[in-house]
Amino acid sequence: MKSDESTKHSVMAIIQKLVLMSLPSDACLLCGGKQEIVGIFMPTVSEVWGAPPGKVRYIRYCLCSECYKMPDITERAEKIIRHELSGGGINYAE
Ligand SMILES: [Zn+2]
Repeated sequence: MKSDESTKHSVMAIIQKLVLMSLPSDACLLCGGKQEIVGIFMPTVSEVWGAPPGKVRYIRYCLCSECYKMPDITERAEKIIRHELSGGGINYAE
């Protein structure tokens, strides 16, 4: 069993790795512009966001400095991430 301190340490290591990595597809989540800020979204209930039970889901996203200035940027980013995770577009129920 891991101690709280070592769990905290490994979470920080994961976040640091996510922030420092660079992907060719990196672009602002909102406008598709140049990626300047990396955000990590950690849902309080990971399973709602598609994680298997007992696993924590981290979602990395990028923003440009202009979009980052929006006062409700966290809510906007969360809405887009939720939309993308649900498969986007129209879901048909048949
Ligand atoms: Zn942007």
